[in-house]
Amino acid sequence: MPLSVSTRWPAFVLPKKDELLSSWLLRNSHAHQMKAHTFCKVVWPRLAFWNRDIDRMALPEVWQLMALKVGVSPERSYQTTLAAYEGILFKRASFQGNSFWLLALGIYHRTHTRYGIQFCPSCFQQDGARPYYRRWWRLALAVGCPECGCQLLDECPFCKQPVVFHRSEIGRKRELATYPLSCCTSCFADFADLRTEVVPPLVLRFQQEWYQRITDSRDTGNGYEYFDVLHQLLMLLSSRKPSLLGFQRAVAESLQLMFHQPAGGYRNRLETLRLEERMRLVEQVAWLLEEWPSRLLDVIRQTNTRLSSILSESHHLPESFVALILTLNADLNKSSVQKISGPTQGV
Ligand SMILES: [Zn+2]
Ligand SMILES: [Zn+2]
Repeated sequence: MPLSVSTRWPAFVLPKKDELLSSWLLRNSHAHQMKAHTFCKVVWPRLAFWNRDIDRMALPEVWQLMALKVGVSPERSYQTTLAAYEGILFKRASFQGNSFWLLALGIYHRTHTRYGIQFCPSCFQQDGARPYYRRWWRLALAVGCPECGCQLLDECPFCKQPVVFHRSEIGRKRELATYPLSCCTSCFADFADLRTEVVPPLVLRFQQEWYQRITDSRDTGNGYEYFDVLHQLLMLLSSRKPSLLGFQRAVAESLQLMFHQPAGGYRNRLETLRLEERMRLVEQVAWLLEEWPSRLLDVIRQTNTRLSSILSESHHLPESFVALILTLNADLNKSSVQKISGPTQGV
């Protein structure tokens, strides 16, 4: 019976815990002894798959049909997409242009120019014979595994190539790839054999906290406001604006980290930064949050950072955060220090 008309695919596989759509799709194609490209051409003849970010685009014709063919609810199928973070990590999912929190892939033809797919080698090892890619590994906030306690990786440590797990079949015209998804598609090293460094305790606690938040949360209406503030703090710490230099240096020095600004453009976009850079930023933000909001307010005060700079990186700031920062304005007015030019400017 053709794949496209049967009620269920004959050799369907169910999504694993927090599995990413593209990983689930690839495992289904391999279960049918078909290459992913061929499988998708048969099932969705009119759709292009591997030259765009299908996890982020969350096309209804893909996740709805997957639900039907595999026998899970449409809700469960949708949960494999990055768009399902809507209402949890961000107010609205964006299918085009930049998106908060979702690591950029830099897709060029069928390969990636950016390092937007991360993995935990220890999770792969625990998966045994059927390793798969987790959805949360695509998030800019993810730097360490909350369960294994080790650092993630965003490249193959042997050949330094980005992870593009659907590529193992390219160049093998008839042969179906026999490598598990945990293998590098450039040099075929198995990531499940790797061991990475332990995450610093402060970072690990923080990773566990936010991971729990997204795991527990459903679309509660404004749960994303916590992540909006977090995003703002990370942007302040990674911005290349000269007016934020003192603030950034003070936070890094409080953690006894050697200070340097990330090497990007005038405004670094968090979602394009490499894991090592994000690890530093996440450690700094975890320190700020450890005594919230006193540490943030103290650093702003001590470094005389303009409030307009603190409020200027985003258009998504929750009112409560803006109000918190503006309390400093009142403090400064009280002490007759007038160094602030237009506290709401740029918000
Ligand atoms: Zn892990
Ligand atoms: Zn490699």
